Amino acid sequence: RLLPFSLLAALILTLGLLYLARQQVSMASQIRQGLRRNEFYLEYQPVIELATGRWTGAEALLRWRRRNGEVIYPDVFIPVAENSGLISRLSEQVIAIIEKDMAQFLGDHPLMMIAMNFSASDIQVDTTARRLFDMIERNKLGSGQLMVELTERMLVDPDKARQLMGQLNDHNIPVAVDDFGTGYSSLSYLESMPFDCLKIDRLFVEAIDRQAATSRVVLHIIEMAAALGLNVVAEGVETEGQAQFLREHGVRYAQGWLYSKSLRAEDFIAGYSQQLNYHQLKQ
Ligand code: C2E
Ligand code: MG
Ligand code: MG
Ligand code: MG
Repeated sequence: RLLPFSLLAALILTLGLLYLARQQVSMASQIRQGLRRNEFYLEYQPVIELATGRWTGAEALLRWRRRNGEVIYPDVFIPVAENSGLISRLSEQVIAIIEKDMAQFLGDHPLMMIAMNFSASDIQVDTTARRLFDMIERNKLGSGQLMVELTERMLVDPDKARQLMGQLNDHNIPVAVDDFGTGYSSLSYLESMPFDCLKIDRLFVEAIDRQAATSRVVLHIIEMAAALGLNVVAEGVETEGQAQFLREHGVRYAQGWLYSKSLRAEDFIAGYSQQLNYHQLKQ
């Protein structure tokens, strides 16, 4: 009597998996269509200097607006794009959009830095890096006007990662380790990679006001970054209390809703000019 039951369970499970696989396939073809129809765009979340509130640049975050007006976030479509071999076309789009949105602006504001997220496949295949270098040369962007973010989880192939980071360094593109603390890289591992910047993951920042133990972990991360000579950016700062804690412990940069959500290019550019005037007036 057990057998038919487990057969039934197996059948349901198989159907479920088939359903999920089909959904992935259909989302992949929608992504392909979205690429053709230019449905992808970038928002820019300001990165600010904690001591002064000055905007130092932004992180470019990918968005997908479907024809029906629905906006889809990268946590949903990036994994599908990764699994269906579409990610390098998405990354190519990201570079093209940054070029279109920002090239002129970066020329006028040489001190501003735009950070772009790489995906795991962008490390495996060097087309994305080459496209980025071409874009930089075409627009004569200076050193430190673009940064690349890699998460710890992407470092599973350390040789490839090191090779890519070497190329980025040669082109004066700083590299940040993103979402730090959520992966599993060890200190020695981090030390052996030529990172310039460390981004403390939002999960740790979120715990600052509420959990003494996690706050201590944040302090260790800050100390470690200092020992390795890395710039630190705290992600997801939402409260003044968190900002104060980070400032007091020597974190220089932050991004988060306390300062600004991610903005459409026009709004980011307008906001950037506005705060620039404000800081110039104050001086
Ligand atoms: P991430 O690089 O860690 O990006 C930060 C995420 O935190 C963004 O989510 C941002 O909107 C969100 N965030 C910023 N400030 C706050 C805050 O104060 N509170 C809260 N609750 N959230 C905040 P988003 O835009 O949904 O991006 C999610 C992830 O998708 C990114 O994480 C990044 O890993 C990936 N991603 C985004 N754009 C791209 C891209 O162009 N290419 C690739 N490969 N991945 C991307
Ligand atoms: Mg990032
Ligand atoms: Mg991050
Ligand atoms: Mg994060």
